[in-house]
Amino acid sequence: MKKLALHWKILIGMTLGIVWALLSSSFGWSAFNINWIDPFGVIFINLLKLIAVPLVLFSIIGGVANIGDPKSLGRMGGKTLFIYLLTTIMAISLGLLLVNVIKPGKIIDEQSRIDNRISYEIWAASEGHEVKDGINYLKDPEFFERAQEISKLSKAELKEASVSDKLEKASKQQTVSPLQPLVDMVPDNFFASLSDNGLMLQIIFFALFFGVCLLFIPNEKSQPVLILVEGINEVFLKMVDLVMQAAPFFVFALLAGVVSKMAGDDVGKVIEIFKGLSWYAVTVLIGLLLMIFVVYPTILKLFVKKIPYLGFFKAMGPAQTLAFSTSSSAATLPVTMECVEQNMGVDKKVSSFVLPIGATVNMDGTSLYQAVAVIFLAQMHMIDLTIGQQLTVVLTTTLASIGSAAVPSAGLVMLIVVLNSVGLNPVWIAIIFPVDRILDMFRTVVNVTGDATVCSIVADGENMLNYHDTKNPTETFDLD
Ligand code: ASP
Repeated sequence: MKKLALHWKILIGMTLGIVWALLSSSFGWSAFNINWIDPFGVIFINLLKLIAVPLVLFSIIGGVANIGDPKSLGRMGGKTLFIYLLTTIMAISLGLLLVNVIKPGKIIDEQSRIDNRISYEIWAASEGHEVKDGINYLKDPEFFERAQEISKLSKAELKEASVSDKLEKASKQQTVSPLQPLVDMVPDNFFASLSDNGLMLQIIFFALFFGVCLLFIPNEKSQPVLILVEGINEVFLKMVDLVMQAAPFFVFALLAGVVSKMAGDDVGKVIEIFKGLSWYAVTVLIGLLLMIFVVYPTILKLFVKKIPYLGFFKAMGPAQTLAFSTSSSAATLPVTMECVEQNMGVDKKVSSFVLPIGATVNMDGTSLYQAVAVIFLAQMHMIDLTIGQQLTVVLTTTLASIGSAAVPSAGLVMLIVVLNSVGLNPVWIAIIFPVDRILDMFRTVVNVTGDATVCSIVADGENMLNYHDTKNPTETFDLD
């Protein structure tokens, strides 16, 4: 058992958790799992998040101060953001390509799609949106009765809705400035940012500011601060090692809880959920798996020749399995950092700066999933988005993935913004909700793998990557 690599132990824990939950669901014991096993999963995520917030703060301060020269910091920062943006756009394009080729939203029967379209038109009319594509079933006498049935509106009300301009609402006052996201990044009270896990961007801003200022004060004053910061960092990393010792047991509890909540006391429910949304889920999964097994390794092969295909997965295994079981890149961050530093040989100076930023702003899996979801939902409502509208999707999914917190289901919530931006009904997120948790697990693995890939590219460019396959990754989290 001692020889078994940590990610295998975690995988075994996960599998046993799923099997146990399915078995207990068929025996009617789901409530037991939810009451007595799931809380240990919650404790695990709490422990990891507890470490993640201060670790982001201190590792960025330490990272920035250690780089030493503001010029190389600026160059590295620029490079990091640029490559993060590139990988995100690649992920979205892959998602758009797949969803336009597979067309999962069109693989449902014609009648349901017409019904969906009619309800969309009613919604658009009531919101004062122009209906897309020029089709308008509400105006078509042939579909009038069906529209009445679906909308439960009276004939007169429906007639009024069909000449929708009359219902046009006074366009909502634009009260929020487009610069609001920038304003939100700058905290007015740093302790408030720390006390709320969602305010990671504010913490990053503060840490960068603090780290840069540390570079500008005299050495005799900055050195003691730096020594303290590095000491604190060591303590947090030791905490990660300690928590990871128990990770296989904790992920058993996590997975048992997730599956029990999904299945209740009826195993058939899980199968039902998948049947309805299978093509959509398959499209997202193909995209995510391509990112993990083809896109990132290819990028690494092109730009960082020294990391072999399997070596990359061996190095990143613990972080990837943990991302899968926690669905949170923030909770996984401490482990991602150790994997990248100790197994891939990235210098701490790079990883302590690039990874915390990546966990917050670079979510390739989330953006790919959002792109597929929007087009899928449009397709199933008989709406063909034009190239221009799909470009808006690229832009808003990029921004939405930057704005998504690195916690479970954040991507689903931000999907509301994306749907709004192309004039689609945000309530549709309810349609894809049932399979979301499973997809969340996979997209979080992509998010974490993407961060690690970019981190090694930046490190290699700075001559700070020292990969060698001699270390046994099992020992990474040993407590010596
Ligand atoms: N759970 C994802 C993460 O933490 C975000 C999301 O797509 O919901 O990376």
